[in-house]
Amino acid sequence: MSIIQSVPIVIYNSVSINDRLTIYTSRNENICWANQVKPSYSLERNLIFKTSDTDDRIYHREQKGKYQLIRRSLSVILILLFVLLPFIQFNGTQAVYFDLLQQQVHLFSLTLFPQDLLIVCLVFILAAFVLFYITQFYGRVWCGFTCPQTVWMLMFNWIERRIEGTHNQSKSLNAQPLSLNKLYKKGLKHFIWAVVSLFTALVFMSYFITVDELYLPFLLFNTSETTLYWVLFFAVCTYVNAGWIKDKMCQHMCPYSRIQSAMFDKSTKLVTYDNLRGENRGARKRSQVKPQGMGDCVDCDLCVQVCPVGIDIRDGLQYECINCGLCADACDMTMEKFNYQKGLISFTNEKNANNNWQRHLGYGSVVTITLTSMLIWANVWQNFEVNIIRDRQALYRVNQFGDIENTFLFKVRNKSSGTKFYQIEVNGLDNAKITGLAKIEVLPGELKIASITVSVDKPLTEYINHVGFNITDIESSSNIVKNSSFYSGSGGW
Ligand code: SF4
Ligand code: SF4
Repeated sequence: MSIIQSVPIVIYNSVSINDRLTIYTSRNENICWANQVKPSYSLERNLIFKTSDTDDRIYHREQKGKYQLIRRSLSVILILLFVLLPFIQFNGTQAVYFDLLQQQVHLFSLTLFPQDLLIVCLVFILAAFVLFYITQFYGRVWCGFTCPQTVWMLMFNWIERRIEGTHNQSKSLNAQPLSLNKLYKKGLKHFIWAVVSLFTALVFMSYFITVDELYLPFLLFNTSETTLYWVLFFAVCTYVNAGWIKDKMCQHMCPYSRIQSAMFDKSTKLVTYDNLRGENRGARKRSQVKPQGMGDCVDCDLCVQVCPVGIDIRDGLQYECINCGLCADACDMTMEKFNYQKGLISFTNEKNANNNWQRHLGYGSVVTITLTSMLIWANVWQNFEVNIIRDRQALYRVNQFGDIENTFLFKVRNKSSGTKFYQIEVNGLDNAKITGLAKIEVLPGELKIASITVSVDKPLTEYINHVGFNITDIESSSNIVKNSSFYSGSGGW
């Protein structure tokens, strides 16, 4: 095996040539590629080419600290939100509900139809650019703190630690031959993982099937085959993802992890090891005065042991790092014990970072434009829609009183969650009036088609005349104006 050594490097990409050889490449132009390894660095840490014939399972140590507290608190809040949101009722129906059969999305008082796709696109654009914007400032904090993969990995790992003990006990349990104790612990862990996965799948499905139709029938084994299939499908996905694939999802499958480095600049705050302060690293006793020539890193290896993606932050920025801050928590703990200043590993940016307004320009403008578009959409959006089609059977007719009549088909869609009454008025044409009922009752979500006849009892000079309709929601007084044509017959009468 050829070995090339370097000083700590910034690794951005790794390419597996085969199952034993991985090539690491870097975009750091200041890399020194030969024979400049500081004595305290282990050889393996500084390999540019290295084999991957070790067990790549990561047994990461549980860590306490401020970032872990934020991660756990956020996880609990997000899980509660995910589970409880479908149970909220609004006007007697599920407040958040994606009705795939009716092609409707219910969000409290708002009901969106396929024709409202624009706002869904705007929401996704806004979410994406807010994420990019935050990434520019704080790196991959989404990955480290709020991504569902992270939240479920945290939960599964918490269960594993409660059953199998510390990361070292877990590792030694795996190395042990099969025994009753091993069978019991592994069986219990996988059973709880499976139950959590099944529950996760049920909760996810409750956004598409109402909670009344989902939970009780499922628990009574009285659910449809389609529902059962999808619940099991999502349960298996959760179990495999959070229990087995774990960090590999972030490293090898998630596209965001591949593009996030493009959003970093000098001012991005990333979890970073203070190389100048930490080196030369080396073990020492707590009571011992810091040896001459040694840095603050006591080489306790805790930052590596707690890392959920199994990297050593002291090797520099690496694409696997999800900015979770656990290594900073671990290192602060060690610094405290040795009475050194905290922050050897911390969220930090480059010292000469450019913090002026221009860094807000790109993402800030897109976010502002998207928000403005959403406000405009909300301002013009109505919770009902009207389409008017002229009756195609006859352009006009003359009734028994000698009045000219035109018939129009009104299609009124009630997009609200309550029954509505709409008043139709005609304008823009002298002496025009609606014959018959001009008030329509429409149920929630219903598309009502009503035939409306407009008559004029005086001669019109034009063959085709403009006619306007004002449709008003009686309850809210919001209205929609529609235009059409009124035919008066050859010669105007
Ligand atoms: S290096 Fe630190 S911040 Fe990055 S993933 Fe590992 S523990 Fe989290
Ligand atoms: S936790 Fe801090 S002191 Fe310990 S090895 Fe990591 S950087 Fe060094």
